[in-house]
Amino acid sequence: MTSDLRPSDGTPLLIDGKLVGGSAGVFATTSPTTGERIGWAADGSAEDMGAAIAAARTAFDETGWSTDPGLRARCVRQLRDAMLDHIEQLREITIAEAGAPRLLTSGPHLEGPVHDLGWFAELAENYAWRTDLPIAEPLGMRTARVLRREAVGVVGAITPWNFPHQINLAKLGPALAAGNTVVLKPAPDTPWCAAALGILAAEHTDIPPGVLNVVTSSDHLVGALLAEDPRVDLVSFTGSTRTGKSVMAAAANTVKKVFLELGGKSAFVVLEDADLRAACSMAAFSVCVHAGQGCALSTRLLVPRSKYEEAVAITAETMGGVRPGDPNDAGTVCGPLISERQRQRVESYLELARRDGGEILVGGGRPAGRDEGWFVEPTLITGLPTTSAVVREEIFGPVLVVLPYDDDADAVRIANDSPYGLSGAVWGTDPERVDKVVSGIRTGTLSVNGGTWYSVDAPFGGYKQSGIGREMGVAGFEEYLETKLIAYPA
Ligand code: NAD
Repeated sequence: MTSDLRPSDGTPLLIDGKLVGGSAGVFATTSPTTGERIGWAADGSAEDMGAAIAAARTAFDETGWSTDPGLRARCVRQLRDAMLDHIEQLREITIAEAGAPRLLTSGPHLEGPVHDLGWFAELAENYAWRTDLPIAEPLGMRTARVLRREAVGVVGAITPWNFPHQINLAKLGPALAAGNTVVLKPAPDTPWCAAALGILAAEHTDIPPGVLNVVTSSDHLVGALLAEDPRVDLVSFTGSTRTGKSVMAAAANTVKKVFLELGGKSAFVVLEDADLRAACSMAAFSVCVHAGQGCALSTRLLVPRSKYEEAVAITAETMGGVRPGDPNDAGTVCGPLISERQRQRVESYLELARRDGGEILVGGGRPAGRDEGWFVEPTLITGLPTTSAVVREEIFGPVLVVLPYDDDADAVRIANDSPYGLSGAVWGTDPERVDKVVSGIRTGTLSVNGGTWYSVDAPFGGYKQSGIGREMGVAGFEEYLETKLIAYPA
């Protein structure tokens, strides 16, 4: 049996195992490629969110879900298999509502994270849920100690629009496999990717009612309820640093665990002995992928002052060759921005770059011949002071600034001169020199000479204001666990 993941009267919510309409009606889903309305999604209200939280609480407190890793592994695999059985429908939804380049849907935009669910199922089966510590004699009493890992409880998962499946599944996979129950609240720009998960979970898995709930909503504050509600034990948030701070503040009142994946302004450091052409071409190309809407993309290119002009020329050549295109086309890597609001935001930074004395060498406007949708040209900016907001703030568009540095220590200093610490890259040929720079940069992931850190078994997350905690890998699974230590007389 296949399911219709995009019903014409609107995608449903999933609450307590039932697919239901939103009590606030429906809201429109818009194509970033054309700017046109393409359908509807259930508009969840505060009341719906309350019902979802209540269902998740009951499922955690009153069913065997949290103590049955075998059931959880089976259910997570069923969800993966249902997604694989509907992969072409999911692909079209992802391209339609997120503007995801078709090319990326066979990787991190869809198929990659779907397959990764299997890794979390396996972890649930093989994880050391119980460890015996050696006999000890605290206070002179021989004591046997058992360390147990247990699910945290009800998880509120709040996600952004840029890589909806990757981020939804990097939360649901480990949270469910670890034994939690979940309420997922996706971004209003991408309700369908999340609603599809709800439909597939309800119709093709044995996930018990209330264990997984999906509440789409046009109202950001419906998500805020997850941070405030005392029935929620952990809030797992991915989004902007500004919203992350408000989630953290709201969660403080009930002292719930807070897991945050936030913004970035990562540095791509090209050392003086690097292959300049390979490095600058990679920096130029990667900032254009998905129109720069990736939190971990490097958006500051740091090059030695002695090679500045050559580096700028190579970077400009590559960026000038990337044409924004229809994400439906197989060859497109740079699609549209998600919304008109996001394009206005990017364009306001381009305006600011001009005001701050920057020179726009490539792009700087809207691509010719693309009058519909929210496209911007890949844009290369030089000549900005490091104090400019364009250099310091996350833009979330295909915009790269080039900054010269004097020596390796100066490169590290500039790379770290940011409130963020998410990711970055280092290119160079002398391993010792590269390692020194890698050690100096304070970020959660780094790519050396083009190495790929993105993988289900590799923890991802930020230093400083880029977040708290790690997603994916065993570390990402353990974010969703509590630790219980039990002592017996020996
Ligand atoms: P956003 O912060 O505006 O929204 C993220 C989510 O939070 C959405 O679901 C939104 O509805 C919800 N939300 C908004 N206000 C809220 C509130 N007061 N309380 C609770 N929830 C609220 O972010 P966005 O514009 O959707 O996404 C882009 C941002 O996400 C960028 O800053 C990007 O760097 C970041 N991001 C980070 C990572 C990472 O892993 N570090 C990954 C992807 C995106």
